[in-house]
Amino acid sequence: MRTEFLEALERASKPEELTKDDLTVLISADKEESAELFRLADQVRSRVMGDEVHLRGVIEFSNYCRKNCLYCGLRRDNSALLRYRMKPDEIIEGARRAAGLGCRTVVLQSGEDGFYSAQMLAEVVFRIKKELDVAVTLSVGDRSREEYALFKEAGADRYLLKHETCDAKLFAELRPGTSLKGRLKRLRWLRELGYQVGSGNMVGLPGQTAETLAGDIILMREMEVEMAGIGPFIPNKQTPLGSCKGGTLEMTLKTLAAARLALPCVHLPATTAVATIHPSGRVKALQCGANVIMPNITPLKYRESYLIYPDKIGLNDTPEESYSRVVNTVLSAGRSISRGYGHSLKYERKCAGI
Ligand code: SF4
Repeated sequence: MRTEFLEALERASKPEELTKDDLTVLISADKEESAELFRLADQVRSRVMGDEVHLRGVIEFSNYCRKNCLYCGLRRDNSALLRYRMKPDEIIEGARRAAGLGCRTVVLQSGEDGFYSAQMLAEVVFRIKKELDVAVTLSVGDRSREEYALFKEAGADRYLLKHETCDAKLFAELRPGTSLKGRLKRLRWLRELGYQVGSGNMVGLPGQTAETLAGDIILMREMEVEMAGIGPFIPNKQTPLGSCKGGTLEMTLKTLAAARLALPCVHLPATTAVATIHPSGRVKALQCGANVIMPNITPLKYRESYLIYPDKIGLNDTPEESYSRVVNTVLSAGRSISRGYGHSLKYERKCAGI
């Protein structure tokens, strides 16, 4: 093993001291080094986050999007996609189903769809919080500060807004008409408004290097995020990046493990994307630092249309089947299912007055 790799691993005992160079070295690990990196990340996850896995039920309630991101199947110009919108009552019914299955968090996710006014979404959040004993995460993209404030007042607990890449030039190319600066501004608003904040990035984007991925982790540490969704880029033929190479399982796991070392207290999902590129992707991710899985609770009839990337797993599963698949994945990784909300550790300590 390289000396610099061993030195970086040693520095991981003080996560705040891990530098971008250290993380680049970790992410560039060879096979033998990777095994060591994964072992340490798993150890840190177990010590800091415990062995329970939090299940967050995702409801993908609209695939309309006004944006035109080059990598995403939901992009505005993708005319091959059959579009759908769920009605507020349907979304709430989905949340009931998720809670009935045992999810203590419901994630409401959509493209950037102006059809849903802030009032409408706030009302949905309010009704879910009033009726069900669940935490609510919103993932509906760029909105104004006032709109985020309204969702928060309605009871939303968390907001997921991935920065996707820390490379400002690449960000602007991949997400036309937007900037990394604007995205980070929104992440700061969310923090100021009292949300538990989630971000994240893709692995394997064209033009990305190990150094960029290390920068993604450093950025999330600086932004003090409480959740980080790290998954492979999967090219979609219905997008301009359709013929690019996608992210690999190996690179995704190394980035995930490095993130666990630098961000020990952060919730890290074993993503659906990693399960899509490899049949054991989620189990492997759970063994490299992940502690969250998001079963898909979207009604079956809409699933095929929420295709950010192709061949997404579980397209023919009912919510019940998705949930039980995820439970089996967790158990096969030798872990147990959390029955708590899975709030951020920071939030839980605040509630406990620590
Ligand atoms: S990544 Fe998000 S904002 Fe961009 S096209 Fe897809 S759904 Fe819309």
